[in-house]
Amino acid sequence: MVGSPCALCRQAKKLELSHIVPKFVIRYLKKTSVVAIRNMQNPNKVVQDGEKHYLLCGDCEDLFSIYETKFANTFFHPYMKDNIKEFNYDSNIYYFLTSVSWRSLYLDILDFVEHSQELGLDTETLDCLIASEKEMRNYLLKNQSTANGIEHHIFFFEDIKNITNELVETRPHTTFHRGIVSYTFFNKELKTYATITNMMGIILFTLYNKGQNEKWINTEIINGTGVISAENQIIESVCINELVEILNNAKKAVLETSDSQKEIINNRVKDKLEEFKNSKTFEDLKKDFNL
Ligand SMILES: [Zn+2]
Repeated sequence: MVGSPCALCRQAKKLELSHIVPKFVIRYLKKTSVVAIRNMQNPNKVVQDGEKHYLLCGDCEDLFSIYETKFANTFFHPYMKDNIKEFNYDSNIYYFLTSVSWRSLYLDILDFVEHSQELGLDTETLDCLIASEKEMRNYLLKNQSTANGIEHHIFFFEDIKNITNELVETRPHTTFHRGIVSYTFFNKELKTYATITNMMGIILFTLYNKGQNEKWINTEIINGTGVISAENQIIESVCINELVEILNNAKKAVLETSDSQKEIINNRVKDKLEEFKNSKTFEDLKKDFNL
C-alpha cells in the first residue's frame, strides 16, 4: 500500500517493495533453478521474484538486511552448499527469525481481520496474534530486549527414505527443498497459533501459543547463544499438519498445471538437459522417485 506508514517504525516515509521470504532465499532458488519458479497458488503464472509488498521504509529494510546477511552466511548457505549440519548461533539469529515471522504475521493479521467470519477466527486467537505482533515489533525496534511469549523453532527437512503412501506423489524433497512459502495458521481447539516459513527445507515455526502436550525436541532457537543441528529433531504438534498441507497443495498445483505450461517446462528442460541433470532439482526428483 503506497501512502501507508512503514509497518515497523510507523513513520510516514517512502515505502520499499519488501520481500516476505528474505531475498537471499529467492535469489538462491532462482540461481539453482533450470526452469522458472512457479507460484504455488497459480501454477500457470511465472513468478519472477517471490511475494513482495509495500511494507517497510528504507531504514527498516536496511536494519533487517543486516540480520538477513548474518543468517545467510551462518545458516543458509553453509547448509545448502557445504552440507553443514550443526550451527552455533547467537541472538542475531533470533532477531532474524523474529523479523521473518513478524513480516508474515503483520500481513496475515490484516487479512484475518478482513475475513474473520469466513475463517472462523475467534477473538481469543486474534487477540493473541495482535499482541504477539506488537511484542515482536517492539523487540525489532529495540525498545525491549526480547519478544515475550513467543518461541522460534527450526526444523530441517532432511532427506527421507520413506513416507506414508498417500504422500509419495507429493514429491516431498522437491516440494520442500525447491519451495518457498510463509503464512500464519491457528488451531482453535488445541490453541496452537503459529507462523510457518519454508526456506528451501529450513522450516521456521514461530509459536504465539502452544497447545498442551506438544513436544519440540532439538528445534528451539533461544534469544541468546546456542547450538542447533539438523539431526534427531522431533516434533509432536498439530503444526505437523501444515507440512502435510504444503505437500498436498504442491500436488494439487502440479495437477492444475495446464498442458501448454507443461509443454513450456518440458521444452525448457530438453533445451538444457545437461544443466538439468546436474541441478539440485534433478537430485530432489530422484530422491522422490525412490520413495
Ligand atoms: Zn520504517
